[in-house]
Order: sequence, then C-alpha cells, then structure tokens
Amino acid sequence: MRPEILYPLFAEVTTLPGVGPRMAKLYGSLAGSRVLDLCWHLPSGIVDRRYAPKLANATAGRVATLTVRITAHEPPDIRGRPYRIHCSDDTGLLELVFFHAKGDYLRRVLPEGEERVVSGKLEVFQGRLQMTHPDQIGRLAELAAIKRVEPVYPLTAGLGQNPVTKAVRAALAQARELPNWLDPAHKARENWPDWLAALKSAHAPADAGDLSPLTPARRRLAYDELLANQLALALVRARQLQIRGRAFQGDGRLRAKAVAALPFSLTGSQEKAVAEILADMAEPLRMLRLLQGDVGSGKTLVAFLAMLNAVEAGAQAALMAPTEILARQHFKTLEPLAEATGVTLEILTGRDKGKGRTEKLARLADGETQLLVGTHALFQKDIAFQNLGLAVVDEQHRFGVHQRLGLGAKGQAVDMLVMTATPIPRTLMLTAYGDMENSRLTEKPAGRQPVDTRTLPLERLEEVEQAVGRALGGGNKVYWVCPLVSESENVDLAAAEARFADLQSRYGARVALVHGRMKAADKDTAMAAFAEGDVDLLVATTVIEVGVDVPAASVMVIEHAERFGLAQLHQLRGRIGRGRRQATCLLLYQAPLGETARARLEILRESDDGFRIAKEDLRLRGAGEILGTRQAGFPTFRLADLAVHGDLLAAARDDTKLILSKDADLTGPRGQALRVLLYLFERDAAVRLLRSG
Ligand code: ADP
Ligand code: MG
Repeated sequence: MRPEILYPLFAEVTTLPGVGPRMAKLYGSLAGSRVLDLCWHLPSGIVDRRYAPKLANATAGRVATLTVRITAHEPPDIRGRPYRIHCSDDTGLLELVFFHAKGDYLRRVLPEGEERVVSGKLEVFQGRLQMTHPDQIGRLAELAAIKRVEPVYPLTAGLGQNPVTKAVRAALAQARELPNWLDPAHKARENWPDWLAALKSAHAPADAGDLSPLTPARRRLAYDELLANQLALALVRARQLQIRGRAFQGDGRLRAKAVAALPFSLTGSQEKAVAEILADMAEPLRMLRLLQGDVGSGKTLVAFLAMLNAVEAGAQAALMAPTEILARQHFKTLEPLAEATGVTLEILTGRDKGKGRTEKLARLADGETQLLVGTHALFQKDIAFQNLGLAVVDEQHRFGVHQRLGLGAKGQAVDMLVMTATPIPRTLMLTAYGDMENSRLTEKPAGRQPVDTRTLPLERLEEVEQAVGRALGGGNKVYWVCPLVSESENVDLAAAEARFADLQSRYGARVALVHGRMKAADKDTAMAAFAEGDVDLLVATTVIEVGVDVPAASVMVIEHAERFGLAQLHQLRGRIGRGRRQATCLLLYQAPLGETARARLEILRESDDGFRIAKEDLRLRGAGEILGTRQAGFPTFRLADLAVHGDLLAAARDDTKLILSKDADLTGPRGQALRVLLYLFERDAAVRLLRSG
C-alpha cells in the first residue's frame, strides 16, 4: 500500500485550485495528471524581472518591472486597433497596449488614477515607450513578488506560462518533506539538499546556470530516480536468487556431437561466451546472463550449446522468440543441429491448436521433448515441462521484466539466458537489467563481408529505383525499407503501400509487401516467398528488423534513414551481407541534413561495429532516443538524463548493493525511507517482493 505521506503527491491535478477537468486534460498531456507530475515538470528557462528602472532610464528590448500611475484609458476608435492605456511616473511616460481586449476587465485591473506594477518586455514604437500585453499586473504590495527571477516552463498548446506557473506552484505547496532515503555521508559529500528543498530549488532558478542538470538540486532528484530504478531491479533479482538454483554440469557428449556437425568452427567470442555460460550453469545459483551480439554474430548457436548442456544434465531447455517468424526461424536453424546431435526438438506457437497441441504438450510434460522453441506469450499459460532447466529468451530489442519473471515460475529454478541483438551501452544495460552478468560476441563469423553503405538524398529516388532494377536483373534479392513516417502506424502503412504500388508497377509480381498490421500467417507467406520463392523485392516496414535470415538478400534501401535510430539502422543493415555476394545498403535521406543527423549517418557509413555505433549514438542524441522509441522497453526517466547523469547511475548501483547487503528486506529506518522512494517512483511491485513491512 502506498504510504499516506505520498497521498497529496498522487492526488489528481484537479485537486489544485484553478484546475478543472478541461485543464486537467491539458496538464495530463503536458506533464501527467497527478500533482507529482507537476512537481517534476521542471523549468527550462528563466525570465529575469528584477530590472525595475524609472521610465526615463528604461531601456527598450528588456524585460522590466515598472511602477506607474494610470493616467488615461484609450479604447480603440476603429475595430482592430489596440486598446491603449497611458501611464507615467515622475520621470516619463509609458503606454500599455492590448489587442482584442475587454475594456471592463482592463478598467478593473488598471483603474485610472491609481498606481500599479506591470512587468513585461519594453519596446519603442514611433518614439514612444510601450509594453504590449504585460506578463504580470499587480498592486504595489505585490511588487516584491513580481520583481524576481521567474521560472519558464515547457508548455503545450492551450496552456500558457501563467497558468502553468500557478499550477506548478500549487503542486509544490502540496508537497511535504519525505523521510531521508539517502546515505547521509553521500548526501553531505555531494552537497545535496533535502528532498523537498531540492524540489523547490529546482523550480526556483536564480540564473540560467541553475537550469543545468548538474546543480546539486537537480542531481539529487535524478539520483533519487536512478536509485529507485536500481533498487527495484535488485529486489527482483534477489527474489530470483532466493529460490535456490540447481547445478547443471553436462558431460559434453552432446555438445561435442553438435560442434562436430558444424561446417565451420566457433569464433573465439563464441567459445568464450559458451564457457562463461557453462560456468554459471554449473553453480547452484540461478543464472541470469545477457548474451549480446550483433545480428549474425552467432548467438543462436551459443544458446543451443547451452541448451545441450542442460539436456546432458538431465533437464529440458526452451528458447523463446518475440515473434512467430523468429520462432520458426530459430526452429529451422536448430532442427538439423538437433538431428545431428540426437536430441528431440519441437516448436510451439499460437498456431498450434487442438489435438496436435495437446500431443505436443504431453510430450513436453513427460520429458520426451528435450528442447522447445516458441514465442514468449506461450510460456505464460498452461504449458508444463517435466523438468525445465534453462530458458533462453531472445529479446532482440524488446525488453520485458514481466515476461522474464513469468518464465521463472515454469521450472523450480530455471537458469536464464537473455539474448539481445541490440548493442546496449553499459549505462542503458544497467537501467534495464540492473547488475546482470553479460557475455558479448564481438567477433564476426569468418567470411562475412562488410556491407558497402552509401548515403543519398531522396531526390535521387528515381536513380535508386533504376539501380534496384539492375540488382534484380543480376539475381539479387532486395529489401526496401519504408520510412518511419510517424508514431502512427496508419500513416506508416500508407507510405509503405504507396511505395509498394510504385515498385510493383515497375517490377510486377516479383514484389511483395510485409508490414506489422498483417496477420502472422500472411507475413510468413510473404517472407517465405522472399526467402525461397519468386519474390525478389520485399517492401517492408521495420518488421523485418526483428529477424529473418535470407542469405540471398544483398541489397537494402532505407527511405528516410534520418528518422531511424542508429541502432535500428544497424540492425536493419545486418539483414544483408550474410551470403557470398557483396552487399550494398543505400540510406536515403531528406536533404538538408542537420549536423547531428549528418554525423549519425556518417558513423553508420564508417563503422560496422554495433557497440561503437551504440556508443556514438548515445553521445549524439542522449539515451532517451537511442533506440527510437519507448517501445524498446527501456525505462524512461523524468528527472535523470543518462547522457549527463551516468556517474549517478553507477553510484546508485553501488549504493543499492550496500543497502541490500545490510538490510535486504528494507526494514531498518533507512529501509523504510527507501520503501517510500520506491512508491514515489511507482515501483510498487518491487516493494511487494519484500518479506515484511
Ligand atoms: P544471431 O543469432 O547472432 O543473429 P545467428 O546465430 O543467427 O546469429 O548466426 C547467423 C548465421 O551465422 C547462421 O547462419 C549461423 O549458422 C552462422 N554462424 C554462426 N556461427 C558461425 C561461425 N562461427 N562461423 C561461421 N558461421 C557461423
Ligand atoms: Mg539470430
């Protein structure tokens, strides 16, 4: 249960004065619908209203706060003209200018003959000093409140600076000090304020420098968020370790057979990764290891050898893929190897129905099936293994802690190996997995040729279409990847369909279309026709990214390459260059390219090293965008920015280790405070893993 102390923060914004249901919607899209969300809506700029000269000395172009007497109202004589209000002090004159103004309102707030404070930008028009639509109007008593440095907030359509500032202020007024969850020594060393003071200070910048993410206040808030992230991950991990693992130590006989059946030898990276995995499996702990490697680096084979180790030790092993296509592909890759090794392998997906499915489940339950390949979803339902020892999760680039946890329940103590083709920088890895063991395949299998990558402006589309025609004539298979137009699938689909129609009118029946909205069976049919049939040009949305191996494909065209994430482009490109032909990748971009976009495409042209590409991308764009969208499943942070707070993430990881080594159930005073922190960042599920309150 969420602690009471957090209730005011989790209240809806409608509980704030002046925020009705209609405004709440706007706040919802701007920051979030709760008071807390407004507290975390940090300013992005400042306005300095401290300049308060006499009118005679006032400089045009500056924001000024002026104390003036209202001498006369001058309503517009003709419609469309502004409403003018004449003011003065004992040194000079000022005109206030209002367009589309309501006279009675202006007479109320700026009555003739009285003194008022106005603040806004000064300008000179036809030799006269004026201020159009002052930002602030107040009585003399309000001078001090107006004459100050004001935060400027990011806005959304329909919400102006004044209401947002007011709402944020009201939200901050609801916030109460929270118990201290920081290590006091660490807090002192960093010179960090208390939680509430940090929050208020982040909203009260005194100068532009205070907007930096590196101020003590902002660093503290970022640290809180990262600590909640690390702590939650570590609690999940600790829970997994509580269930004692089993030691799987095969005798190597099946592995030897499998390796002997390969027409090639393992790369050094593969050997090393297998050794690391086997060492983990031999421990009586539950393995949780990540196997990272570029597309085509040979992860599947490494996984297979680990699976054989489980079988040698008398257990079953499963490999799960994110999509049906991929599951089938893994199955096809492993089938001959399983046969040569003499182990039983089956595939189970959403397409298995009725009697066939029942029989497969029976074979799985009595242990006749030793290795199973399937989709993620299946492992959450009614499937029972006789003795599942190892689960391999092929995540490609989608991550989900939930699925991993769900799977853990299938066997008593299942070892887990997570495969990913996304080269994830160390910092991002930490946020998604916590301190997870990690094996990397850094070498490419022998015989791979680098892909010749070129960048071309979209204006040369016609030329590219002709070149594609020549490639098709030369017996090549070609991928044509359609632009990522927007977040909306509909728009993307329309673009893909238009390109498909265009290419089909040129190259006829040799062209097929595959996109994310198609039924799985139709997708498979199109993919199969491309892999083995008469389709040679496959127009695709990014669905091909997750997957499919077509060694004959040697050309790829990517439209609007500038809209894709670098890691994504790298993965797409990895789909070609797997066969014997020299492969070419054409990145079509919309000119003119900005400097960052140019630098990004340049990296791709120069390098084929996924880890380097990911690192450069992180540097150029920041973590939030590195994988394109949230769909990648990495946590997104409100207060932390990994591009500048990387050191804090490492500190949060170390802090977490120390915390859990001293107080694994978070029951001590600091532990109780840390529970509040977890609730604050909505890691409620992690708190539920704790044994007692
Ligand atoms: P990944 O899963 O990392 O994308 P795969 O395991 O699908 O890569 O391997 C891609 C291709 O490379 C497969 O056809 C596989 O048989 C082949 N392969 C794997 N390891 C080697 C190796 N050491 N030498 C040559 N080819 C290899
Ligand atoms: Mg693969």
